[in-house]
Amino acid sequence: NSFTLVAEDPVGYRARVSPGHIATRLLNDGATLTYAQLDDRIARCAAFLYAAFQARGEGFRVAGLGRNSVDLLVLAFACQRIRAIFVPLNWRLGVAELAGIVADCAPELVVYEAEFQAAAETLREGRPGLSIMPYAGAPESLDQALADTAPMQRLKGDPDKPAILLYTSGTTGAPKGVILTRRNLFYSAVNFSFVGEVVPGSVTFCDLPFFHTIGLVAIARTTLMMGGTLVIADRFVPERTINCLNDDSIGVTHYFAVPQMATILRDQPGYSPERMARLKAIFIGGAPLPPPLVDAYLKDGVALVNGYGMSEAGTVMHMPLDETEIARRHGSVGFPAPLIEVRICDEAGHDCETGAVGELWIRGPSVSPGYWQKPEQTAAAFVDGWFRTGDMVRCDEDGFHVIADRLKDMYISGGENVYPAEVEAAILSHPAVAEVAVIGVADARWGEVGVAFIVRRPDAVLDAETIKAHCGERLAAYKRPTHVIFMDAIPRNAGGKPLKPVLRADWAARSAA
Ligand code: ATP
Ligand code: MG
Repeated sequence: NSFTLVAEDPVGYRARVSPGHIATRLLNDGATLTYAQLDDRIARCAAFLYAAFQARGEGFRVAGLGRNSVDLLVLAFACQRIRAIFVPLNWRLGVAELAGIVADCAPELVVYEAEFQAAAETLREGRPGLSIMPYAGAPESLDQALADTAPMQRLKGDPDKPAILLYTSGTTGAPKGVILTRRNLFYSAVNFSFVGEVVPGSVTFCDLPFFHTIGLVAIARTTLMMGGTLVIADRFVPERTINCLNDDSIGVTHYFAVPQMATILRDQPGYSPERMARLKAIFIGGAPLPPPLVDAYLKDGVALVNGYGMSEAGTVMHMPLDETEIARRHGSVGFPAPLIEVRICDEAGHDCETGAVGELWIRGPSVSPGYWQKPEQTAAAFVDGWFRTGDMVRCDEDGFHVIADRLKDMYISGGENVYPAEVEAAILSHPAVAEVAVIGVADARWGEVGVAFIVRRPDAVLDAETIKAHCGERLAAYKRPTHVIFMDAIPRNAGGKPLKPVLRADWAARSAA
């Protein structure tokens, strides 16, 4: 078939086009690899995996358990070269959750960072077929294996076979293994290269975890496909991130964050509006972006570009990189990425009128064919060539989209639909509020009512009556939360998303007490 080199093997392509260009820079120790060096490492890793596991047949799984590193990328691209499937594991999960994922995808090998050795050993218990191996620091390590193995040529394969299993964040239930084919990954990167204006001179900085779509599929893959330089931090450490963004010898052009990270960064002592303003933009995604944060950054001359995406499709919508539009379209996620088609549908699957809120359905070459070994969930979400996102969305006359909320988080109070995200935005506009999450809970009179969980800003004085009065000025009566609970921190997953099932359990426990 006619899948070209750049689509099949972006690093292999760049190793031909710009072999001496810096592909990766590790922030922790400053180590760099050129495209030729990265390509060589991938070719050795492919050879090692192929020799060890080819007998298990095409499509065997290899999992990586560790913070962001070059090794994780090498594993991902090596798997793609030999028709194996890479599974990036979320190191922030507990061992029991990881065991669930490992049972689901049954890898032949888990390669782990030293820090996660105990977890890797636990994962192996009761799975005699599973091999585990550290990245480095042992005779039987990946490092050693690569040193001992000659590089191999890539195998041509079917672009529509799985290349990566990307587990969802598990915000609405147990994580699902999203199948991404090589074709999906290529078109995801094409979409993101348009959205982010990523070019060979780009220096992208990723301290978001690789195990989510934004890290591995969007930032890392797009940068390497477009021949830019990918700066990798093992994780988000605010002070270190500021130092990196301030460092002209690194010259970061693109930074990516979830909203909480952007909030934290602006409060750092080393935060420099002048240096930040030299970034092309700060790309934000994964969760609703509070308008006050957008304004604060705009005042500094920095564009926070809201993007909307998901494991199943990569980048789906984005704001243009234009400060005037960003200022005008508060809260919007903009319009669809170049290769994404969208519909906004009612429950019966009919198109809604312009301006009405409905479920977003999407289609395009970056959209996954389905979930790994989950025929029922696949059949429910992938319908007639469209993927039902589970997100409630509205599109205005100019074609700008606003995410109202997740279908699963919406609740009905006195017969009216309430989207917690709208209530959260109203509450967040109060200066004493640092964080908020709203859920709907059963109520004898209204069917359901809202509960607002609020974290105050440090040293701020704020009580429930003030919040209720604040909402009273901004929201229709049925949208105002009935209950207000103050807490020290909102429970969140690695993507920065509030864990609403945990909050619902918290509420159930409080109301039972
Ligand atoms: P699960 O599917 O397991 O419940 P998840 O949907 O959180 O978890 P991801 O695929 O990582 O897992 O996240 C995609 C979701 O994140 C989207 O469907 C949407 O609900 C939310 N999201 C992403 N970007 C934005 C954004 N810019 N604004 C609002 N919500 C967003
Ligand atoms: Mg989801």
